[in-house]
Amino acid sequence: MTDDAAHDHERIETRAIHAGQEPDEETGALMTPIFANSTYKQDAPGEHTGYEYSRTGNPTRTDLEDNLAALEGGQFGRAFSSGMGSINTVLNLLEAGDHVVAGDDVYGGTHRIFTQVYEKYDLEFDFVDTTDHDAVRDAMQENTELLWVETPTNPLMNINDIDALTDIADEYSALSAVDNTFATPALQRPLEYGADIVSHSLTKYLGGHSDVVGGALVTDDQELDEEIGFYQNSVGATPSPFDCFLVLRGTKTLPVRMDRHCENTKELASWLEAHEAVDRVYYPGLESHPDHELASEQMDDFGGMLSFELDGTLEQARTAVSETTVFTLAESLGGVESLIEQPATMTHAAIPKEERLAAGLTDGLIRVSVGIEHIDDMKADLQAAFDEAL
Ligand SMILES: *Cc1c(COP(=O)(O)O)cnc(C)c1O
Repeated sequence: MTDDAAHDHERIETRAIHAGQEPDEETGALMTPIFANSTYKQDAPGEHTGYEYSRTGNPTRTDLEDNLAALEGGQFGRAFSSGMGSINTVLNLLEAGDHVVAGDDVYGGTHRIFTQVYEKYDLEFDFVDTTDHDAVRDAMQENTELLWVETPTNPLMNINDIDALTDIADEYSALSAVDNTFATPALQRPLEYGADIVSHSLTKYLGGHSDVVGGALVTDDQELDEEIGFYQNSVGATPSPFDCFLVLRGTKTLPVRMDRHCENTKELASWLEAHEAVDRVYYPGLESHPDHELASEQMDDFGGMLSFELDGTLEQARTAVSETTVFTLAESLGGVESLIEQPATMTHAAIPKEERLAAGLTDGLIRVSVGIEHIDDMKADLQAAFDEAL
């Protein structure tokens, strides 16, 4: 544990490496050790160091939680064993009979836990186009206690105006939570725009190496943090010390990784946009993106995710994503390696076809998580796959 105020004035590159972590006083060990233990010696009953039992608190986890809080510019961080574990905890804050408004293109797992798990506990959910603020206002009710926002969204990279949406939540005295997984705090810090809670899947960019599953919540409100801590401990979806260590290792390089992800994605987006085999590219960094201006204001850069429509059939797009060798055919995102997938048959296959097409998720749509390999190798890989498929 550190005096985090010491890092408050520092830039994110410095905080990523130092916040939450101090060399070990006894040994000088630079890195936070993996505290692989469940329990802690007490000097007398109830007299302990602050750690009693590792579900409640673990020093490796504390360093990660402090590091994540510092990255988001908040005071309080809580880590979970998955992004779904963190989303579950936000829902734990609600009561039966409460109403939630969420984007109609939220992460599939978010939609699933909302409707298939919490509706049966009598929570009510409305999914609306959160780029349409009138629609959001219309959806807000007397019993609306939470507005759930994601931006950029998956897979069409819509941009939601965090500042405007958190204002609407405030008008209705509802909590606002932003899933910041796609942008990361290196590019976008929702607390600065008035969000009450920032939610993360650490599995993606924060871990960054496709080797760990984790989640986190960050807030700037002590009372809210204590409530979150109560559910974190009561429900028990806490990460192992080893997982915390891996994510701490990942966050140190987050700003440099994001720089390269963004640089590569910008270049790939322009190349795809000019490509004759491509009908349309969805990337907020392109001037052709309808929310390019909002993204430029809200984000420091445009991220490493893009989608594009191949000018072909479902089968041709399927062949294209199966032929790449630099891009690995896989779900998930945010690692150093490039991934490719076909939403229609993979991440969004559960959506009925009519609905999927109406939402703009066409048969030829391909989503890529652009890694940090050399951009020329990525282009050559996609070109070869297009040649094979079309
Ligand atoms: C992956 C993801 C989640 C869920 O996180 P897990 O770590 O897979 O449980 C939530 N939101 C977004 C935007 C994601 O990409």
